Amino acid sequence: MLTRMHITMVKKRLANGETCRKCAQADDLLKSRGLSDRIDEIKWADEADPSSAGMQLGAQHGVSVAPFFVVRDVDGTTTVYESVLKLVNERLTQRAPAGAPAEVSSADIEMAARDLAGSHPSEILRWGLERWGASLGISFSGAEDVVLVHMASELGLPFAVFSLDTGRLHPETYRFIDAVRKRYGVEITLMAPDVRELEPFVKRKGLFSFYDDGHEECCGIRKVQPLRRMLGTLNAWATGQRRDQSPATRSAIAVVERDRTFSGARGVLVKLNPLAAWSSAQTWQYIRERGVPYNSLHERGFVSIGCEPCTRAVLPGEHERAGRWWWEEATKRECGLHVAKTPAPGSGSR
Ligand code: SF4
Repeated sequence: MLTRMHITMVKKRLANGETCRKCAQADDLLKSRGLSDRIDEIKWADEADPSSAGMQLGAQHGVSVAPFFVVRDVDGTTTVYESVLKLVNERLTQRAPAGAPAEVSSADIEMAARDLAGSHPSEILRWGLERWGASLGISFSGAEDVVLVHMASELGLPFAVFSLDTGRLHPETYRFIDAVRKRYGVEITLMAPDVRELEPFVKRKGLFSFYDDGHEECCGIRKVQPLRRMLGTLNAWATGQRRDQSPATRSAIAVVERDRTFSGARGVLVKLNPLAAWSSAQTWQYIRERGVPYNSLHERGFVSIGCEPCTRAVLPGEHERAGRWWWEEATKRECGLHVAKTPAPGSGSR
């Protein structure tokens, strides 16, 4: 009698003795999520041997593709998964309960910021994921912050990923977001602008008003409001912000902080900036050493990547933020996602 769920993975062995490519990719995905040891047994479907154990299991369950997974529950129920992503998401990832309260005080946050200030980004992320699991959302912009997704994946803890689909991203960025989804087997929530705000705005001001009167209004509708909606469902979020990205606006960010801009709807919202102390060079060293996927625009001189009309490649020696909203003053080059509200007088550290 089973005392816990039992998972059989069926892999296909080709006539030349090699493992099929999709089976190898499924193995990689399980390994990258720290889930390999959740597979209890492997059965091979030999292409050249219809009587092999895997072939027989396939015939028994009416499955003709590999890999597939047979999950037997303690009550004897058997479920077949033809997608490793579905297996991971439905059976191997424990999500924190939606709406879990944020049991963290300002003192906790300040202490964590001090304790974790010199820690590796992965340890900072672990601190957050151990507390909030999938109610901590990793904000993935389609640029170097993919390292956070990679680190979370390696930690093997539950996590969530979201991205802001402004409708104005480069085609390369959309492809990259989807490549990350497949590589790490994660669901990525794409937050779109509220059409009730977007349509009248475009009707009134066209598609390029930001060149005339600044990016705030467009960013407000396409980025800030969708972010606010997303954060309203979370207890914490993690960003790929680094201090070296903007001496004017990011030089003082902490690795853990209370989000003063978006806290409110669910109480304290905690913001993690695990890469705060890293330089661009350290980030890229990590990407190269581990074969982390990256946006192909980086190979064409793009460094900080945002929306297509508001991002350009930078010249050697130019600061990376010089490629964003380049027609505006350098001190205004934030889109409202990371600009902290000044605490009200007398409000203390909360
Ligand atoms: S970056 Fe440009 S296109 Fe994108 S939301 Fe902001 S102003 Fe609009």
